[in-house]
Amino acid sequence: MNRNRVWHDGRNYRSRCTVCSKPLLRDHGNWRKFDLQEDASEARELHPRTGEIA
Ligand SMILES: [Zn+2]
Repeated sequence: MNRNRVWHDGRNYRSRCTVCSKPLLRDHGNWRKFDLQEDASEARELHPRTGEIA
């Protein structure tokens, strides 16, 4: 998790794994992998710089 790259999608804090660069989501105080199928939602805003979903 890269603390300098944390952003908020309107629901959860988001970042990327510093090792494998997979997208992460902060859920109930813990960072876990962002699951495109389970977690993708129109209620979430896109990344402020890249405009990507994760
Ligand atoms: Zn990783």
